Parts: sequence; C-alpha cells; structure tokens
Amino acid sequence: MVNKYGKEVMKHFTSPEFMGEMKNPSAVGELGNMKCGDIMKIYLKIFEGKIEDISFQTFGCVAAIASSDVLCELAKGKSLEEAKKITNKMIIEKLGGLPSIKEHCSVLGAGALKKAVENYESKKK
Ligand SMILES: [Zn+2]
Repeated sequence: MVNKYGKEVMKHFTSPEFMGEMKNPSAVGELGNMKCGDIMKIYLKIFEGKIEDISFQTFGCVAAIASSDVLCELAKGKSLEEAKKITNKMIIEKLGGLPSIKEHCSVLGAGALKKAVENYESKKK
C-alpha cells in the first residue's frame, strides 16, 4: 500500500501538461466529489470521432490534479469508445499508485471524461 505521493504523482502535480481552460470545446464534462471538495471539469475537442485535444480544470487536491493530467495523457488521440473505457485503475497504475484514501480523487477524472463524451454524443443526436 502506498501512503504518500510518489514521484510520478508529484511530477504531474507540479507541472501538469493538460491543465487549463479550452476555447470552443466540442464537449465539457463536470463532476464533483464531496469528500475533499474536488470539482473537475474536462474539455474535449473532438474531430472525426477522436479526441483531438483535451484539457482539464480542477479545484482539487494533489491527487485530483495528478490523476486528471494522466487521464488526459491517456485519452488524447483515442476514439470516444476507447476513451469511455479508461478507468481509474489505469490512471492509478500510470501514477505508480496513490494513497488509498486518495483513490476516490482519481475516479473523478475518469467520470468527468465519460460525462463529456456522453454530452457530446447526446448533442449529436
Ligand atoms: Zn481529492
């Protein structure tokens, strides 16, 4: 079990690559969690069924920021179907583990991404 943040977590927290608002996104997904007050917003630019660009904004803790950044890394270039299959387990693995009390923070990013994709799909109908 991991009790503190690892190197990979700190790297993504201190210099997140995908943090920021996106202008004219194709879709936005928002999700919050009560436990530590994290709010997560995911922006997607979708072209021909693929995630061409992705960014996030969060009022979250260290774990929330690091896991969103990894989530964006995983999702970029993926098809919408593939993106929906990204789980918090994949995120935690890529981060090299998270303290178990912080695992819920990684759920947030994957959930917000799923919501963004669903928003996009419902708009298209
Ligand atoms: Zn959190």
